[in-house]
Amino acid sequence: MSKEKNSGGQEKMPVVFIGHGSPMNMVLDNAFTKSLKALGRALPKPRAIMVISAHWLTTGTFVACTKKPKMIYDFFGFPPELYKVRYDCPGAPEYAQLVKDAQVSCDDRRGLDHAAYSPLLHLFPRADIPVFELSLDYSFNSWAPKTVRYHYDFAKRFAKLRDQGVLIIGSGNIVHNLDRIDYEIDAAPYSWAAEADEEIKKNLIQGNHGYLIDYPNTAGSASLAAPTLDHYLPMVYAISLQEKNEPLRFTYEAIQNGSISMRCFQIG
Ligand code: ZN
Repeated sequence: MSKEKNSGGQEKMPVVFIGHGSPMNMVLDNAFTKSLKALGRALPKPRAIMVISAHWLTTGTFVACTKKPKMIYDFFGFPPELYKVRYDCPGAPEYAQLVKDAQVSCDDRRGLDHAAYSPLLHLFPRADIPVFELSLDYSFNSWAPKTVRYHYDFAKRFAKLRDQGVLIIGSGNIVHNLDRIDYEIDAAPYSWAAEADEEIKKNLIQGNHGYLIDYPNTAGSASLAAPTLDHYLPMVYAISLQEKNEPLRFTYEAIQNGSISMRCFQIG
């Protein structure tokens, strides 16, 4: 089956969701980081990358129009080597400007947080592709179900980037509970975490977006699996950009630290 091309002959870029998990993955060589390396080699080379970051929560939505993004070490209590990690990629203000509109403002100073560079270090280790981040508007009551629906609908405006050679990466975790975390990265998953991950997996396979939009507000495992929306929403942006009948495949699945799903997928 031939891939759809836009008028400029550029293939429509896939959309990727990455469960980024613990910052320790930056310096580990494990099954997860190996899967990222393999994914980076398999993806078409993008002109730029937009990362929807679980770690950039704002009032209103912002896009980074920074020319040369600085490293933001937004994690605490980890070994010193993690604070020496560098990902010196260029920014992509010309692509960021494409999504600026009445509801998306430019931030000229925003650097890269670990939701971006932690997976990018493995996906594209040469750091030669321009990267810019998109924030999550977190100014709503995080328990209101309309919040997820709002983000799902809002994300549609970014679909055009796929035809411009921009790889869109949602970076969060579909199951993410730091209060229940086990500090052993390879700890056995909690049963509720495994159950929630399976439930979400099933609905991703079925393309059941309605269920995934409602999920954080449902009874059962959701209150433990997605106690806040920050790491869940980047997945919602990714599925919002899935076109009718567009395939979704999992590129990694496992649970780290007992309570964090590292599930990753590619659309298109
Ligand atoms: Zn995170």
